[in-house]
Amino acid sequence: MPVNRLSYGHRPTFTNLTDVFAAANESTLESYAKWQLIGRYLPRLDSDFLSLVDTFNEATTGQGSRQRYQTCISVTQNIMPLALARPYTDYLLPNGTKENVTEMIEEVKEAFKSRLEDKDWLDDTTKERCAEKVDAMTEMVAYPDQISNDTYLDELYALFNMTEDGYFENYLQYIIISNVENFASLRTPVDKSVWLNAPTAVNAYYSPQFNQFVFLEGILNSPFFHAGWPEYFLYGALGVIIGHELTHGFDDEGQQYDKDGILHQWWTNSSVEAFRERQTCFEEQYSQYEMFGYNVSGNLTLGENIADNGGLHTSYQAFQKLMNTTEQPMLPALQYTPEQLYFIGYAQSWCSLYTEEYIASVTKTDEHSPGPFRVIGAIVNSKEFPEAFQCKEGSAMNPEDKCELW
Ligand SMILES: [Zn+2]
Repeated sequence: MPVNRLSYGHRPTFTNLTDVFAAANESTLESYAKWQLIGRYLPRLDSDFLSLVDTFNEATTGQGSRQRYQTCISVTQNIMPLALARPYTDYLLPNGTKENVTEMIEEVKEAFKSRLEDKDWLDDTTKERCAEKVDAMTEMVAYPDQISNDTYLDELYALFNMTEDGYFENYLQYIIISNVENFASLRTPVDKSVWLNAPTAVNAYYSPQFNQFVFLEGILNSPFFHAGWPEYFLYGALGVIIGHELTHGFDDEGQQYDKDGILHQWWTNSSVEAFRERQTCFEEQYSQYEMFGYNVSGNLTLGENIADNGGLHTSYQAFQKLMNTTEQPMLPALQYTPEQLYFIGYAQSWCSLYTEEYIASVTKTDEHSPGPFRVIGAIVNSKEFPEAFQCKEGSAMNPEDKCELW
């Protein structure tokens, strides 16, 4: 599920892993190594093996088997991401989408910078450096330009020699080719223009080392985006995602990387201290949320929650600026104001249905809070939501104590 960020900052994991390995007995380690290998290839075998995979997934996530077409699409997406993205881009992505989204990104960036000025917990030096970081951010939107270049695509897959009835062998070929490519890139300069995800994946992410955020064409769909939507839905859904990714550059981990993606302290001591104090508020707030008896870990989900809050507030500011210049059409037969529809669009984008097994697992492993808390958690910290819906101060959706960073 969106919105992931690239994994980083997990250095203690590797140190701790050494201790786990040292303490484990040999047969456990052997089983683990075997499972890692078998677990990877099982889903690519025939129906006898697939039913085992389904049983395993059902027990661990509560989710049943995937349809055959879903498997085919996701495997092709992993193996030949650009080959799959080409027809998607040609036939399904509405014209002008890339340009529309790029324009929205500029608006949200401007809103973030103008909000920086009001942050009295940040000193001027840090504010200035934060604005520089926003200016230095690059973005990738929808698909790489080479996607329409036939020669480029042919060369990209020149090593593949696929056969019609060799599904498993085709997959092995892909593993070998991608391993060779990975090893070949070792000790070569980092190429920041490379697309690390398939364009058709439903995802957006921020990379702190690249100071770059990416919106894949797969996420440019309902409930996040639709070419014909009024602005309140565009900004309430995709605008918040844009603000979310941007804010990752300033969450508890992104804040430690400077505008060039170098890990060092580039803030003044007093601003770092003020940030740490404020992040505690978010940790405590989200730790109170609970579903099926499982509490959200305010610590594990901290960066994502900071990003959700920054995204909601920042995109609202961009939307407000737009409302000053363009009239927003109302929806027929509904009495909601554009301001209210902005928040409805946001809530709609995280509308979800969960099983207990899934919640049991993700509250321990996922850096994102479950959908309902992504909505409520950010909205109760909003100053604009209670104005839009006239919530009394101190009521459930307008508590007196609000957490605030961006
Ligand atoms: Zn995120």
